[in-house]
Amino acid sequence: MRRKLVVGNWKLHGSTARNEALLLQFQDGRLADGIDVAVCPPFTYLQQAVGLLAESGVSVGAQDVSAFHRGAYTGEISGEMLVDLGCSCVIVGHSERRSLFGDTDPVVARKVVAALETGLTPILCVGETQSQRESGLAEQVVAAQLESVMACVDVNRLDHMVVAYEPIWAIGTGLTATPEQAQVMHVFIRRFIESTGADGQSIRILYGGSVNSANAASLFDECDIDGALVGGASLDFESFRAICAAASGVVRQGDLRRV
Ligand code: PEP
Repeated sequence: MRRKLVVGNWKLHGSTARNEALLLQFQDGRLADGIDVAVCPPFTYLQQAVGLLAESGVSVGAQDVSAFHRGAYTGEISGEMLVDLGCSCVIVGHSERRSLFGDTDPVVARKVVAALETGLTPILCVGETQSQRESGLAEQVVAAQLESVMACVDVNRLDHMVVAYEPIWAIGTGLTATPEQAQVMHVFIRRFIESTGADGQSIRILYGGSVNSANAASLFDECDIDGALVGGASLDFESFRAICAAASGVVRQGDLRRV
């Protein structure tokens, strides 16, 4: 059984004081009860988060990583630097980086490789725009995004990767894919991964796009939705805790059904 994973993407939000207030609630929040939980603050606050979350069971990740390990690359942050700070995962290819900062498919693929080489778990984001979905191109777009990564990565290392299906029309918009729509795409992604020879059954596929405390449980009920990448709702402790509780509730129900 794949363990559920809930990841908070703080995007360009936070300050030392605000983060401290939020992260202190995480310390005894029992968020990671039977599931994995990570938060991804901006680079400048990673060390603060690692320190404040040390005893919480909650991991810390970054929102991006350089495709390069070292050298004359002004402004870049390498995977080794992230590991050095205590990070265990990194979001790669978020749609905002793809659309605003030039992260093309080949760049994203090189970042995934760099993350894997440094021992970080890459959380590879894929997803289609509204018009691509309306034109019936959603699967084709997602397949192309996956394909460029699969072509560069040793399939035996792919089980360390997490995929986040994030339909762009659902990110930060309040629109959410229905659990059925998300499940269909997650099955497509899993089968696509399996078609490359990788063990698609062990790879966790998260859903992202306006996940909140009201819709999380019905998404997590789908058997191929292994958790969530959460933007806006991860900045509010009670909302994030409720999403984590929904994920851990599904785990417990699943365990009971198996007994
Ligand atoms: C995201 O940032 O990846 C995201 C899904 O944002 P939101 O939950 O706010 O839609």
